Amino acid sequence: SQSLAELDPDLAAAMNGELSRQRDTLEMIASENFVPRAVLQAQGSVLTNKYAEGYPGRRYYGGCEYVDVVEDIARDRAKELFGADFANVQPHSGAQANAAVLMALMEPGETLLGLDLAHGGHLTHGMRLNFSGKLYDNQFYGVSKEDFRVDMDEVRKIAQDTKPKVIVAGWSAYPRTLDFAAFREIADEVGAKLWVDMAHFAGLVAAGLHPNPVPYADVVSTTVHKTLGGPRSGLILAKQEWAKKLNSAVFPGQQGGPLMHVIAAKAAALKIAATEEFAERQRRTVSGAKLLAERLMADDVAGAGVTVLTGGTDVHLVLVDLRDSDLDGQQAEDLLHEIGITVNRNAVPFDPRPPMVTSGLRIGTPALATRGFGDAEFTEVADIIGTALAAGKSADVSALRGRVSRLALDVPLYEGLEDWGMMS
Ligand code: PLP
Repeated sequence: SQSLAELDPDLAAAMNGELSRQRDTLEMIASENFVPRAVLQAQGSVLTNKYAEGYPGRRYYGGCEYVDVVEDIARDRAKELFGADFANVQPHSGAQANAAVLMALMEPGETLLGLDLAHGGHLTHGMRLNFSGKLYDNQFYGVSKEDFRVDMDEVRKIAQDTKPKVIVAGWSAYPRTLDFAAFREIADEVGAKLWVDMAHFAGLVAAGLHPNPVPYADVVSTTVHKTLGGPRSGLILAKQEWAKKLNSAVFPGQQGGPLMHVIAAKAAALKIAATEEFAERQRRTVSGAKLLAERLMADDVAGAGVTVLTGGTDVHLVLVDLRDSDLDGQQAEDLLHEIGITVNRNAVPFDPRPPMVTSGLRIGTPALATRGFGDAEFTEVADIIGTALAAGKSADVSALRGRVSRLALDVPLYEGLEDWGMMS
């Protein structure tokens, strides 16, 4: 039958345009990554044809003997990698994993305590327009005005006042590690369940560079596509006592048939995540983010004193504070886009500007570390970003774009992909 390019040249052209964009620019959206060949192959496989409602050994469809093996491999690897009793690998996305977690842990109307979206939390942790905001009584903790860090005394006080059924620890934009032991203690004091959403930092946990929440939390959810470097999808880990409730919350609670091709891709990504090569990549990710923060803050290099929230980072991202800059978040995002660096604008806590504009940038290193960047390349990236942000509206766009292009050429992405049968 016809190839995609033969069948649909318009679609193929847009997809090839996206491949060129990924190759020719520097991807620094903190939640993105580049999946390996094995993941692309699994996702482009005939497993997409199979219905498999239910779980291995207990399906509602015939012909599941091979997809059962696939799902078992994925579950076993997830448990092994993070030291968990139980894994559910069926969530189509991080948001659906979180919907299932909340469905298993609490009833509509009960109280959920999470990090405020405006301070780095996620939509599914109780934002007003999200299902979580509509179904539950939502309470929030934030970061402190002094040091922009989560203050555990404040969390304890809010937990004592609001008596939540569930406390969620986890974030989409926060540059430090959270104290899971303290969260556990507070949850026990107020009789709450502890849920950790490690979507952003799961790859760092797998590599031993970030505290593992699994021993502390009742339930841990994650996406597979951020630092973990796998297919766009979700995953749930838990203590055994939650197994039944979580399985039934995913299916039939939130989803129908699982995406078996994506589950195969998760299994491949989890195999990679257990390797030394993966750990080395995560080390370059964290060290690149630290280097970026330091050079942006330094007065003697191009950054000329850009403000970095909390004065640095422990993880894979840096939050730039533009409240004192002549650029707002939107203008800074657009300027970096013009020079070939993709980031996203991000509200800083206590942001005076509206959410579509913002006064911050979130800059992440996972995708470039996967591409092969190390300290030398990250130093050059930091100097390019620092020069652009310091010059603001008078930045020399074509000179900076030239430096970006040289880096992209020096460290090529997806070499040979055309011959993998993927984009032809
Ligand atoms: N949880 C956190 C902490 C996230 O940052 C995200 C993604 O941004 C999600 C959940 C949701 O993941 P998805 O976009 O796959 O629904």
